Order: sequence, then structure tokens, then C-alpha cells
Amino acid sequence: MSTARFLPYGRHSIDDADVAAVTEVLRGDWLTTGPKVKAFEEAFAAAVGARYAVACSSGTAALHLTALAADIGVGDAAVVPTLTFLATANCNRYVGAEVVFSDVDPDTGLMEAEHLEAALARAGDRRILAVYPVHLNGQCAELNAIRELAEKHGLMVIEDACHALGASYRPDDAGEAKIGAGAFADMAIFSFHPVKTIAMGEGGAVTTNDEVLYRRLMRMRNHGMTRDAEAFTSADLAFDAEGAANPWYYEMAEPGFNYRASDIHCALGLSQLAKLEAFVARRRVLAERYDRLLAALAPLVQPIARTPGCTPAWHLYVVHVDFAAAGVSRATLMRQLRDAGIGTQVHYLPLHMQPYYRRRYGPQELPGAQTYYDRCLTLPLYPAMADSDVDRVAEALGQCLKTRPGP
Ligand SMILES: *Cc1c(COP(=O)(O)O)cnc(C)c1O
Repeated sequence: MSTARFLPYGRHSIDDADVAAVTEVLRGDWLTTGPKVKAFEEAFAAAVGARYAVACSSGTAALHLTALAADIGVGDAAVVPTLTFLATANCNRYVGAEVVFSDVDPDTGLMEAEHLEAALARAGDRRILAVYPVHLNGQCAELNAIRELAEKHGLMVIEDACHALGASYRPDDAGEAKIGAGAFADMAIFSFHPVKTIAMGEGGAVTTNDEVLYRRLMRMRNHGMTRDAEAFTSADLAFDAEGAANPWYYEMAEPGFNYRASDIHCALGLSQLAKLEAFVARRRVLAERYDRLLAALAPLVQPIARTPGCTPAWHLYVVHVDFAAAGVSRATLMRQLRDAGIGTQVHYLPLHMQPYYRRRYGPQELPGAQTYYDRCLTLPLYPAMADSDVDRVAEALGQCLKTRPGP
């Protein structure tokens, strides 16, 4: 066993300012739905360049809210790339809709327009209402081509941007747009789980530029209720004889959820958001260092392919390993690295291979996702890593594969 500090594949960075921000809320008048929620939402919307942000209790809650706001339900379906976290697909099942899995590029893991087109062709007569592009690892796909195809088929575009806070997209023919700004999508969702770019403990957000979607998201986050007198429909219950709204009154138009984010969480989120650019910049520096050092392990080890037109915000540092040529299995390599104090992970087992989805939709062949999955390995990446930590990972990887990393 190594005595060196264990390097997990990802972790949060909390400083004294974050601690002070949270304790200030704990000593104040509001623990939930107070000024910090609103302040976080305004700052977050500004940070990604969107008109509205709705803070909520997790990225998964954010995904569920998008399906509700988009009015996706029983008899409907959405296209989801198979290479993503469970929640991107599951949110459609929560509302009774089906999932059509799309394949992805074998080298980037991203769903491109051609994969979306193939998924739509396979969907038969299912009524597809939305597509959920996923910005895997912090890179984005060709969003303009996906947007164009979605418009042709009348689909809403809902980005799962959990990996890509701080990334931007710049197609040849348009200016640079931040992920979450809604330049190519109707809604985008983010997670503030500690492993993500900024941490809230648990937390999430939806961004949109559409006022109707915004109102629906806000209502469904809070039990489906409204206190807006202009929206009241039961006049006899809502208003007194003089026509004034009763002070106790609220109405529920449809059953929603308690997906609120607390002031405690939003205070942490607000404090973390102030460091977003520094976090993203540090992640880029570390990723470039990995790229340089791991070049010596090519072709056994290769950083995942980069997409044109994207300024990535690396959430994960993923390499593709030729395990057959290296003569070592992924499980063995992961155990050897763990013994050397290095945490790794696999992102992700394609969702169409999960027992639940295999039972529901039968076996499917999605060869791009299969090829990506067979080779991928996530190495440690988080802002508090030292340059020497990256060197240590590259060295250990080289030793396990019996080749030496470069200078
Ligand atoms: C983390 C993540 C989620 C879920 O977010 P939670 O805040 O953990 O609920 C959804 N999609 C992707 C791609 C993620 O990485």
C-alpha cells in the first residue's frame, strides 16, 4: 500500500469564504427560500448568460422539472444519448414517457446530429417531444446541427450540462455562446453535487430564456402552487366581496414537487460561483499537463478526442486505454491504481445496457457507445490537485502498463 495521499477521481474545493457564507445563513432569519436563493439564481443566470435560472434540490430534480415543463408525458418519448448518467433517461420515465437511446461518437462519447437522426429513424411511430444532448466530460457536441434537426422534427432541445458549467460553444458561423445561455436549446440543466464544477452539497438548476417555461418550472418546483392573484381561477375562493385577494390564499393548478433549494445550499453555491472561472482554468491547466505527460504512453493510452467549436470546461479527465494491447484488464488496472493511492472510475456503462432498460426495450446494438465504454477510464481531476499529483498519476499508469511516461 502506498502512503501517499489518496487522489479520488473528483472532489470539491471548499475554503473559509464558503464556510463563512454558510454560517452567516445559519445565524440569520431564513434557512430556506430566502434571499440567498434569489441571489444565487440571479448570479447563476448571469454567469451562463441566460435570462432565467431556477435553483432546485439536485440535477436529477432539474431534469424532472424540464420534463414536466416541456409537458412530456405518457405516450410521448425523448431521445437521450446512451452514454450518460442514469438521471438523463430516468427523468422521462418519471413522467411516464419512453426513452429512445441514441448512439454516440466512439472517440468523444458525444451524440452528434447523425446519431440523433438515426435514433429518430429507429423510433418508429413513437411521438418524440424532446432531445437531451449531454455535454460529456465538459465538451459539447455540434449543437447548431442538433438544433436544426430538432427544429425540423419539432423537438425541444434540453441540454444536460452537468459536466459543462463554464464551457462555451462557437460554431463557425456564429459568435461564442456559453453553455446554458440557451443559444441552441430551450432549457439546460446543471448539478452542484460535490464532484461537479461548483458544489452545493446537493443542488441543481435549470436555465431558460422562455418565460412560459420559467413560470412552469417555478411552479412545479414548489408543489404546483401559485400565489399570483392574476393566475387564480377559483374567484369565489380567492377574492373577498371587494375583489381583493384573500391573504391566506394559494392555488394548485397541477400537482408539483418539493424540489426547492435551501438558503443554506444557495449561500454555498453563491460563494462557489465566485470561483467558477478559477476552478475551470485550473482544470484546464491540469488537463493540459495530463495531455503532455500521457503522450508518451500513446498509442496504449490516449486522451479522449477533442471536438471542434468547443471551449471545454473539463469535468472529468478521461483516457481511452487499449486494454487488450496492454495485456491488462480494466478491473485489474483500476485495482493496481487504487493500491497506488489513485482513484479511477468508468463514466459510464451505456444506459441501454442497464437491466431496467434492457428489460424495457430489449437488447440494442449501439456500437459507438460500446467502443467508447470498452476503452474509457476516468483519472483524478479537481482544482486542488497539485501539478505533482498529475505527474504521480501518469507515472503510476505508465508503471502499471509497463511503459514510461514522458518528461
Ligand atoms: C451529476 C449528473 C446528473 C445528476 O445530478 P445530481 O445533482 O447528482 O442529481 C445528471 N446528469 C449528469 C450528466 C450528471 O453528471
